[in-house]
Amino acid sequence: MTVVQKYGGTSVGSVERLRNVARRVAARAAEGEQLAVVVSAMGKTTDELLALARQVNPRPPRRETDLLMATGEMVSSALLTMALVDLDCPAVALTGAQAGMFTDDSFGRARIRGIDTWRVEEELAEGHVVVVAGFQGQSPQGDYATLGRGGSDTSAVALGVALRATQVEIYTDVQGIYTTDPRIEPNARCLRDIASEEMLEAAQQGAGVMHPRAVELGLLYDIPILVASSQAEFGSGSGTLIHREVQMEPENRVRTIALDRDVASVTLRHVPDRPGIAAQLFGPLADAGISVDTIVQNASELNLTDLTFTVSKGDCDQTEELSRPLAGALGAADVLFKHDLVKVSLIGTGMQSGPGYAATMFRSLSEAGINIELITTSEIRITCLVQADRGEEAVRVLHSAFRLDEEI
Ligand code: ASP
Ligand code: MG
Repeated sequence: MTVVQKYGGTSVGSVERLRNVARRVAARAAEGEQLAVVVSAMGKTTDELLALARQVNPRPPRRETDLLMATGEMVSSALLTMALVDLDCPAVALTGAQAGMFTDDSFGRARIRGIDTWRVEEELAEGHVVVVAGFQGQSPQGDYATLGRGGSDTSAVALGVALRATQVEIYTDVQGIYTTDPRIEPNARCLRDIASEEMLEAAQQGAGVMHPRAVELGLLYDIPILVASSQAEFGSGSGTLIHREVQMEPENRVRTIALDRDVASVTLRHVPDRPGIAAQLFGPLADAGISVDTIVQNASELNLTDLTFTVSKGDCDQTEELSRPLAGALGAADVLFKHDLVKVSLIGTGMQSGPGYAATMFRSLSEAGINIELITTSEIRITCLVQADRGEEAVRVLHSAFRLDEEI
């Protein structure tokens, strides 16, 4: 049986830590399992490489930026392999391309098109631990392409899917997935398990532990993902399992609360209400590659409507540039941009069947004097946009209102 492990940047952040990871991997390999290990770049390497690029060119070409960033993971995979060999654990390091990771050519945010696993499988069959450089693949032209920041989670899950691994194990610097970020709420609990759909919502709503695309792949191919600390003993039962079947809790409840700081909102005020306005506005944004998150359109009064949507902060400037003339063309009275908002989301499959979650959320926030700027929901999520300086407090208020600190 094959297991895919992934170690994040912090876990391989120094020689000492790399050697520690090597000891863990070697011990696991000695149990007889076939092991593929995906690594991130050491510590803050990727940031440092990007900073270096900007020193020589404030707008570095995307292709070469990917080539440069890809070296970070090559360094850590080569070093981890050397450390394994030093422990008499047969191992081989492969770049993403050597491991058969094929991507498209959208540099900086490439998508995996397919994985040709022959080389990895051959090495595994020969008894090698295969150490794969995460975050990278080969474009159709044979260039290095990277998967977007945090992308080695996606490499690991994709490799797990392609190898039909029993489980993908993501080792990181936290204990697992929590009821909320423990840096915000010290009473947050580490969850034993979480449904893949819940984890996907949480990852999309800012729970930074795992890359959303990795969770999406896990959900799509139904592969269990364990998130655990790279310090914890394997088999100690610690960590959080992300999988389809979650043990039903005796009471349906909220599973986790996410805080997303990466949000900016745009409001077009008093747009004449006629067919096609949404298409005229969102078409050009989509063409520019801007992904729009929440969209709210008010019921119109006197044929004028307000339209609000959110984008990530990184897309903010471009959105402003595009939406000002569009707002003019649509006949909007004015257009407002807000950068000082955050999203607070309650997530839990249990909320589908139980009433009252939204009411409790709104009441708790109002009792704390926190104003809700905008509300959106999915089947298993309720999100409120609030002022950025009240976001952490909102998380704490809701964590206690839904008694997430209590094990039931
Ligand atoms: N090294 C890359 C980054 O810092 C990929 C990763 O760590 O997953 O974003
Ligand atoms: Mg990471």
